[in-house]
Amino acid sequence: MEDTRLRLIDLSGEIFQKCPTLPNHPPVTFSQYQTHETVRESEGVKFSCASSFLTMGEHTSSHVDAPCHFDERDNALSVDQMPLEQFYRPALCLDLSHKSLKSDISVSDLQQAEEDTGETINKGDIILLYMAHYDRTFGSPSFLTDFPGLTKESATWLGKKEITSFGVEALSPGRPGKNNFEVHLVCRDLGFTHMEGLANLHEVVGIGHFQFIGFPLKIRGGTGSPIRAVGIINDSKK
Ligand SMILES: [Zn+2]
Repeated sequence: MEDTRLRLIDLSGEIFQKCPTLPNHPPVTFSQYQTHETVRESEGVKFSCASSFLTMGEHTSSHVDAPCHFDERDNALSVDQMPLEQFYRPALCLDLSHKSLKSDISVSDLQQAEEDTGETINKGDIILLYMAHYDRTFGSPSFLTDFPGLTKESATWLGKKEITSFGVEALSPGRPGKNNFEVHLVCRDLGFTHMEGLANLHEVVGIGHFQFIGFPLKIRGGTGSPIRAVGIINDSKK
């Protein structure tokens, strides 16, 4: 029997009270709703349970954008309409950690990073972009603003590879303003999407293709959803 050793790598950011969110998305509130101090009794059986109250936007922490987030056409899919296959796919992580914060990622940056993997980007892949942004800024205000970003040209280069989606650690794929809008419009026009707010990408860089899983919640009409992003590594591969 073949020896398969699967390792699961958590690629998700945390959701917590007041966790960083962009100003055009609702804040996160997370608080105790009921504690074990509250004991109920029925027919002589005592029982207590704890539960919390959570409010958040769909675009909180690690999340996927549904096409209807950036495409106003009536037929743009909402998150509950997106095929599950889009969230369980082969993935490749490109190393862009040498890029300085607030810089643009060019087509040649992506080409070089692809070459460095020793593999090629295949149609249908999920492409993760490791920019060491999380490690350099998380916990400071610059997490929301100071990250390397894609441009219209580099996002187009990814889209023309017919990838399923790409993922970044920042909460936006392009530098704030024009670039970020243009990257979203490239996704609309070339029919792919992206995930934002990923973490621990250093754990999947330099390992070639692996299996990615990151299912969204089934939010009716949702423009996006938090995901639990996980890399599945097959250690018995080589
Ligand atoms: Zn987005």
